[in-house]
Amino acid sequence: MPKLTFVGGIHPYDGKDLSKDKPIKAVLPKGDLVYPLSQHIGAPAKPIVAKGDHVLTGQKIAEAGGFVSAPIYATVSGTVKAIEPRRVVTGDMVNSIIVTNDGNYEEVDYGKKIDTLEGLEKKEIIRRIQEAGVVGMGGAGFPTHVKLSPKEPDKIEYCIANCAECEPYLTSDYRRMIEEPEKLVLGMKAMLALFDNAKGILAIEDNKPDCIEKLSQLTASEPRIEVYALKTKYPQGAERQIIYACTGRAINSSMLPADAGCIVDNVDTIVAIYQAVYEQKPLMHRIVTVTGDAINDPRNFIVRIGTNYAELVEEAGGFKEQPAKVVSGGPMMGFALFGLDVPTTKTASALLCFTKDEVSAMEPSACINCGRCIDACPSRLVPRRLSVYAEKFQEEKFVKENGMECVECGSCSFVCPAKRQLAQVIKSMRKLQLAKNRAKAAPPPKKEDKPAEAGKAEEKKAGEAKPAPDTKPAETKAAENKENTKPTGSVDGKAQDAAPETKAEQGKEEKKDE
Ligand code: SF4
Ligand code: SF4
Repeated sequence: MPKLTFVGGIHPYDGKDLSKDKPIKAVLPKGDLVYPLSQHIGAPAKPIVAKGDHVLTGQKIAEAGGFVSAPIYATVSGTVKAIEPRRVVTGDMVNSIIVTNDGNYEEVDYGKKIDTLEGLEKKEIIRRIQEAGVVGMGGAGFPTHVKLSPKEPDKIEYCIANCAECEPYLTSDYRRMIEEPEKLVLGMKAMLALFDNAKGILAIEDNKPDCIEKLSQLTASEPRIEVYALKTKYPQGAERQIIYACTGRAINSSMLPADAGCIVDNVDTIVAIYQAVYEQKPLMHRIVTVTGDAINDPRNFIVRIGTNYAELVEEAGGFKEQPAKVVSGGPMMGFALFGLDVPTTKTASALLCFTKDEVSAMEPSACINCGRCIDACPSRLVPRRLSVYAEKFQEEKFVKENGMECVECGSCSFVCPAKRQLAQVIKSMRKLQLAKNRAKAAPPPKKEDKPAEAGKAEEKKAGEAKPAPDTKPAETKAAENKENTKPTGSVDGKAQDAAPETKAEQGKEEKKDE
């Protein structure tokens, strides 16, 4: 069995012992369920219910807003209370459907379950995944049906299950692999059914020997699936790093995994593929790790999407001590939260509550040229130099020095003895550069005068994402491929992401581990 890795990386305290041995517990929501219409990359979903409507568990309440988009389903039965902007983990206000839970959990009929893929055509597999609203649940939220529809499917040689879970504290994938490994294997078989020349790899960090053993046993008679034990190192689960570790193939920001013959999906996404294809069930649940030293009873919950974060803290026994820092997602790449009154979404992997905010307590000092940030960088960059260019807004130098190749993993900041916020300034500079590239690539406004209403209609149409012909220069694609991976739709216009191009957006997927 290969034991593979990548160059660079770090070994932070993993904190996984807090929750790794706690079985997954189901949470029944008590309050209203909030479904943001943008919880995926691409066009926001469009509501197909109205205030006052009665809905059932598993009923579609918003349809996909375009090809690069995903529908949203009610996760409880109840009444639509409102459709209005609500705060999400990024701090943005996002248009959302709010459902009052009637506590009956009445369900729709999902249709016939199947035990085998025999007789199921490829296009039906894709249709089921699309219809179920499956998106990358590792944090990126890229619609899975788009990822599974590359231009040249015969050139896909590897379907990689990202089972690394390299972010500290996260144990949801670990529990899923221990408790429901069959679903992961069946989901992988559904993926492989789409790619005749591909081999399936279950890529697991070697700090999870029980998962490696269990999945190896389960796949012993599966000729197309193999388990790889990867060296435990952050960010092993980042897309480029896991592809390199598993195949020896390197991709950069101007390439998609499919360009290297690879498709990568994380554990929860592959289980959602299983549910969509075999059970015809839409994406309604996900596993969320609630942990950190401020939590009384850290554990993993299976959560109905839309459940409020505050309820998860309550389920975990509340706070031991008032937290100084609360993070949605992993500590390296997650979002620091303003408050707990936000809903879980398809991409919410964890809620971390810490009694200390070590980052804000840091006092940065001058660089001592120790070179540790260079050794740690998995993209083989020189973070100290890039951070100087970023601080001085020297864009040309930043780009020339490959600043756009940063995967925003945070390893450089983590190792810096001078406590310099390297990753943060590099990330800000990248965002600025990406925005400029987007503006340059945008078509010029049309000159002809149009009545105001007609103009608005066109604007709306342009907001509907479609797979676009790939006509951009390489450097533009490079920049766009590395854009922020989080769903960013917002009603206040801060980060509206209504019209991504398929290829560019696909490159964002699985940047995160989770
Ligand atoms: S954040 Fe960027 S520059 Fe820093 S280590 Fe990660 S990839 Fe390198
Ligand atoms: S790790 Fe920090 S102190 Fe060391 S070279 Fe990099 S920026 Fe300078």
